[in-house]
Amino acid sequence: MKKVKRSFSLFIITTILISVLASCSATDGDDSAVSLPEPRNIIYFVGDGMGYNHVLAVNYYEHGEAGMQVYEQDDWYSAAMATYSAARFSRGDTIFKNGYAPRTAWEDPAYLNRDYTDSGAAATALSTGRKVFDGSIGIGLYGDTLTHISQAAKAIGKSVGIVTSVPISHATPAGFIAHNHSRNNYEEIGRYMLFHTQADVIMAPGHPMYNNDGEPAEMSARYVGGREIWDQLAANDGQTEFTMDQQILRVQDVNGDGQRDAWTFVEDREDFISLATGPTPRRVLGIPKAYSTLNQGRSGAGEFLMPFEKPLNENVPDLKELTMASLNVLSQNEQGFFIMIEGGAIDWASHGGHTGRMIEEHIDFNNAIMAAVSWVEENSSWEETLIIVTSDHECGYLTGPMHPEVVNDDVASRGTGELPEVQWNSGGHTNMLVPFYAKGPGTELFELFTEGLDPVRGPFLQNTDVANAIFLMWGKPDVMVHRLN
Ligand SMILES: [Zn+2]
Repeated sequence: MKKVKRSFSLFIITTILISVLASCSATDGDDSAVSLPEPRNIIYFVGDGMGYNHVLAVNYYEHGEAGMQVYEQDDWYSAAMATYSAARFSRGDTIFKNGYAPRTAWEDPAYLNRDYTDSGAAATALSTGRKVFDGSIGIGLYGDTLTHISQAAKAIGKSVGIVTSVPISHATPAGFIAHNHSRNNYEEIGRYMLFHTQADVIMAPGHPMYNNDGEPAEMSARYVGGREIWDQLAANDGQTEFTMDQQILRVQDVNGDGQRDAWTFVEDREDFISLATGPTPRRVLGIPKAYSTLNQGRSGAGEFLMPFEKPLNENVPDLKELTMASLNVLSQNEQGFFIMIEGGAIDWASHGGHTGRMIEEHIDFNNAIMAAVSWVEENSSWEETLIIVTSDHECGYLTGPMHPEVVNDDVASRGTGELPEVQWNSGGHTNMLVPFYAKGPGTELFELFTEGLDPVRGPFLQNTDVANAIFLMWGKPDVMVHRLN
């Protein structure tokens, strides 16, 4: 099993500790305090359902060997991360606290099937720094409205983007920007994202006029705020006021100039591609012509086992195209940006135990990450942009062939271009540690927060540490700024 690298010295940790303490005791105007890193841009990749064996499987398929992804190289920080939610209810009002016991995880094959999180609580933890109940979207244990990193970004003048390969109002995209007691309130969450947040870019499927093969079809409009809202969005006439059930809904002001900023709506693949270069509209809502996923949900999952054996949806952009388009729109803001980009259907393929589709989705996710790395190197730098690549939880209890005799063993390579030898031991999520990778300013803080120790994966973070580290760097507003009623 792979040993976790420790690439940051004690010196750096000590320097940061001193700087944190110094800034706590510094008085106004005292510029002798050492300052924390302040990344101008943060690109936060979430591979939904992606565990260590998922990463290994895609490496074996693509390269026949481990450790080949850009984020697995020596100049990236890597650690493991615990993903469990705060607690769950079971049998009436009994509350069971969740946790992760490193030794038990490698001894008892049933252990990882307990205490696992759902994507709502996981996204909320990754975005707000708080563990919450399963199913919650940005709402705390006591019903309190939590602050998202995306709100911290807005408070200091940055742009915000939310991009995913699953529906716009699904748990992970919602969990990075919305507030709702239940992830299942898709229609309400969709309206919240469109009318109550200050997102500059949202790109995700959920198109009510196309099916999962990208063909015209009459689908539900629940992901995009309901049919009445959809019809007005699709008119794309620059309106800032919408009506629903005779109520008026207004879009927000995203740059603090006191004017409401209309969504520019795009749906055609070529329009996403052309957004990747040149001047762009200020605010973009991109709903590709596909219903629940860009490609994972297309037909043929049963007949075609190998990745890409069934051609991808031709008229639908992939995650890399959405990534390049959104980075170009967001980087028009001189103050920088925050973006969350989710490989959302890695999870969906893993729920189905479909190795070929999982690898396809993982390759799509990796391509998006490589595009972002190129964007940093061509348009920014590693001094000003932080990239994070992690997961919200493992899905499918994916292992090699020796499990459960060897608990949670590695998938086995069959060589390049071949599906690795795997076992799917669950149709749901697990409480396994997931991988965490980062490169750019502020990476040192993640090492500072890493305090768990797993006998196989090594040092691990909590899923709440990522947002809390970012709040240290960017500050944490307790109110929504510039927000109009
Ligand atoms: Zn899932």
